[in-house]
Amino acid sequence: MCRPHNEIVHRIVVIGSGFGGLFATRALKRAPVAVTLIAATNHHLFQPLLYQVATGILSSGEIAPPTREVLRRQANATVVQGEVTGLDAGARTLAVLAPDGSAQTVPYDSLIVAGGMVTSYFGNARFERYAHGMKSIDDALRLRSQIFGAFEMAEWTADPQRRAAWLTFAIVGAGPTGVELAGQIGELAHRSLTKEFRNFSPAEARILLFDGGPRILPTFPERLSAKAARALERLGVELHLSTLVADLEETAITVTGPDGERRTVTAMTRIWAAGVRAAPLADIVAQATGAAADRLGRLAVAEDCSLPGHPEIFVVGDMMALKDLPGLAEVAMQTGRHAARVIAARLAGDERPKPFRYRDLGTMAAVSRTSAVAAFGNRGFSGRIGWLAWLVVHLAFLTGFKNRFTTVVHWAITFIGNAREERAFWS
Ligand SMILES: Cc1cc2nc3c(=O)[nH]c(=O)nc-3n(C[C@H](O)[C@H](O)[C@H](O)COP(=O)(O)OP(=O)(O)OC[C@H]3O[C@@H](n4cnc5c(N)ncnc54)[C@H](O)[C@@H]3O)c2cc1C
Repeated sequence: MCRPHNEIVHRIVVIGSGFGGLFATRALKRAPVAVTLIAATNHHLFQPLLYQVATGILSSGEIAPPTREVLRRQANATVVQGEVTGLDAGARTLAVLAPDGSAQTVPYDSLIVAGGMVTSYFGNARFERYAHGMKSIDDALRLRSQIFGAFEMAEWTADPQRRAAWLTFAIVGAGPTGVELAGQIGELAHRSLTKEFRNFSPAEARILLFDGGPRILPTFPERLSAKAARALERLGVELHLSTLVADLEETAITVTGPDGERRTVTAMTRIWAAGVRAAPLADIVAQATGAAADRLGRLAVAEDCSLPGHPEIFVVGDMMALKDLPGLAEVAMQTGRHAARVIAARLAGDERPKPFRYRDLGTMAAVSRTSAVAAFGNRGFSGRIGWLAWLVVHLAFLTGFKNRFTTVVHWAITFIGNAREERAFWS
């Protein structure tokens, strides 16, 4: 579309290149606007598959395509990398730190904030220091080096106690991330790595999954979490439920069990999949706009995802608190699209209220190589059928044709051939 030179174009700034930011930007493709997407990273990240990067199934590029490549055909979208450090809601400008540390100012007419969540260690510095989180591509690559490095160390170690310590993997949090990691480490120990070591058997590995609640996958129907628990146990994963982490050290984890007894287990790999809170950007927005935050730091929005008193600012995805909607990729995609449509409708002169309605497309978690649980409203699937549902949905949402193609090749290598191709790590 050709516009006259002096036409004033509505400037929309989108913060974040996750599901919320990307889907908001894409939904503005045909709108007569200029979109600037600012994100701290140069890539979009498919977080639900981080655990596959950590366990050697996928490469980082397959789940983290460059955002500017994803949006290369969208002429009205400009992508810039930078960290938003300030918001002046009166002047309608953002303060941004460019990658070289220089300060930039970016003006906007409408703003869509999709800053997501970060790992929460509940304010405990020792938990943060001694356990690996799982939120970014760096986290996944660090964890990959820890997991495969532990097997490498076990090959060197003659002392049985030291070897047992290297081969003990302690995972805190039995939501989808903890369950998926436990299942895949179980697969590595009992299936993929069995013939590769000479001085020990990978099946000696202990995979411990701790959770303070009474069952794994608490947001799934009970029947599905029981099935997932049985599938994990078949892979040798030890479930320690109603068990709280009391302390973490460089080589050990201390927990308090349901009987109130404290136990310390030596474990060289400790993984934290137990909590998230809104990214610090939420505080910046709250301070500039007076927006209210919930206990996770998420910002309370009006029914159309805009901030009360600031109809030009929208908060979408994980950073938004609206009607108890969960932190799911699908919520982020739908709210991102919704905010974009509200802005486009306003520009077309349609000021009618547009409350957001969530279309629940279900939740799922892969438990092992070919077994998953999938809940769609009252209906639930497990085992192979659950896994097929998981496969179709994840393929559909992977961004970019090239990524889909290589991902299918890697999945075939893993799911049919039982091998792991993406194990390179640098210590
Ligand atoms: C390990 C893991 C597994 C998951 N599994 C599933 C699953 O199986 N199914 C499911 O539906 N959901 C899953 N989720 C949740 C899902 O990934 C999130 O709901 C979704 O990513 C939220 O999208 P978002 O756009 O709100 O935030 P994010 O995807 O987190 O994106 C946030 C963006 O904001 C940027 N940002 C933050 N602060 C700033 C700043 N100050 N300046 C500039 N940019 C900033 C970040 O760089 C990033 O680009 C999982 C999440 C994790 C971590």
